[in-house]
Amino acid sequence: MTFRITYSVLDADMTALHAQFDEALAAVRRGLGGVFPSWIGGKAFESGDLLESRNPARPGELLARFHRTPVGEVDRVMRVAREAQRGWGATPWQERARILRKAADLISERRLSLSAIMALEVGKNRLESLGDVEESADLLRYYAGQLEEAQGFVKPLARLSPNEDTRSVLRPYGVFVVIAPFNFPLALAAGMSAGALLGGNAVVLKPSEEAPWCAEGLFHALRDAGLPDGVFQVVHGEGETLGAALVAHPGVDGVAFTGSKSVGYAIHGQLNATRIRPCFLELGGKNPAIVCKDADLEAAIEGCFRSAFGLSGQKCSALSRVYVHESLKQAFLAGLSEKARSARVGDPTEVPTFVGPVIQPASVARFEHAAAEARRDGVVHAGGERLRLAGALSDGYFVAPTVVEIAHGHRLMREELFLPFVGVTGFGALEEALTLANDCAYGLTAGIFSRKDADVAFFLEHAEAGVLYANRRTGATTGAWPGVQAFSGWKGSGSTGKGGCGPYYVAQFMREQSQTRM
Ligand code: NAP
Repeated sequence: MTFRITYSVLDADMTALHAQFDEALAAVRRGLGGVFPSWIGGKAFESGDLLESRNPARPGELLARFHRTPVGEVDRVMRVAREAQRGWGATPWQERARILRKAADLISERRLSLSAIMALEVGKNRLESLGDVEESADLLRYYAGQLEEAQGFVKPLARLSPNEDTRSVLRPYGVFVVIAPFNFPLALAAGMSAGALLGGNAVVLKPSEEAPWCAEGLFHALRDAGLPDGVFQVVHGEGETLGAALVAHPGVDGVAFTGSKSVGYAIHGQLNATRIRPCFLELGGKNPAIVCKDADLEAAIEGCFRSAFGLSGQKCSALSRVYVHESLKQAFLAGLSEKARSARVGDPTEVPTFVGPVIQPASVARFEHAAAEARRDGVVHAGGERLRLAGALSDGYFVAPTVVEIAHGHRLMREELFLPFVGVTGFGALEEALTLANDCAYGLTAGIFSRKDADVAFFLEHAEAGVLYANRRTGATTGAWPGVQAFSGWKGSGSTGKGGCGPYYVAQFMREQSQTRM
């Protein structure tokens, strides 16, 4: 399948792009304080019970408010979805793909305002926000292409006799609940929803309570593209109440979830307690990089820096463990710490900012706890403290990019922190490093830096993770693009082994039926 990535940042005139972003940001700021509905059956639903979206860089700044969907409405939402799915499931695949492609074009057209909203709402810096929005559009195109390439997933099978025709047809399951995290608020909501929709399912999306405004943008792109009412509904509320009620509803035919391991496992258990249903989980990571004796040290430091601290470490693929050959350990620690200390932390909407805020006060508390443990049990080489920035940012949720030297067995090297916090430890032989890297409940991404082909080959053969990178100075363990890196978690990082951005994604949202005619 040929597929062109639309990432404007790769070939844009950056001065012009920044000027356009500034203009879009100013327009978004002029509209702050709006009140938005939930979307049920294509109609705005207003409960009067409002959820607030606030800027994590300036928590005093109220961005928008959203009408929560009461748990008591879940049954109606599910009935609307069931009814709408009948028509959508019977819609020719060409039309389903056309509508999703149109929605992708609308997202691309609206990319500046959508990315400005995202930078304000979740604290992503402007280039990362633009990347998230463009990835959303590309996911829709890439997945539409999967349906087109497979001609709607109808395949003639072998004949037992000349007067008998059999075909395999992939058909929709029915109604999918899609539950998305805050950190890729558009790309992941759009990607999971698109997979389900292209497969002919209706979708009920519950975005993260930290990112309702981004979901509003997705709803309008799909609606304006011509998606029939009720096929895609957006409900707002907390995961523990509304999310749990959606999963518990007997009318759910499947769940696509991206988020933490603990919540994903709980959803899986709940969904499959009474009957077996598809439950696609894309979960967390504790991603390692190995820096070998003959690595390009400067490339390794740069790649580790970007992966550990980009998006304030709040990426599932963020680097959080480094195993570095003993002969390079001190130089590596010095270089990475120097870069961590000089990283620009600040307002994510400003051009030079690399590290924005973390998402919420609980993340700051988690950081402070981890830093205290690191001081007690290891050596803190950079960071380790909450940052109080000046002026309007003084209450923002900022923490310092942190580098600690700590033993492999420590909690900080085993549990996902989801913070700009990386642990470093030494090794002697590559086999040992790989054993340590694989000694983990997660298996999402992993990286290696080595100039030796044999070392890289050994790593690619033995690393237990779904996404591997070798010698990647733009990100030791991070970065995936639709149709370029299939993004599937192994072990505790995912349930399917066939993740977003990959070639097998859409088919998972359909079930096979064999049809024989005489
Ligand atoms: P989270 O706390 O697990 O929440 C994810 C979503 O689940 C949110 O919409 C949340 O709603 C909802 N939720 C929470 N409790 C629920 C429950 N009992 N029943 C149903 N839904 C529930 O994760 P997060 O903090 O948003 O995101 C960070 C996590 O996502 C990290 O672990 C990260 O590694 C992972 N992640 C994985 C990938 C991947 O591709 N593998 C990509 C991105 C992120 P509320 O927000 O309203 O509580």
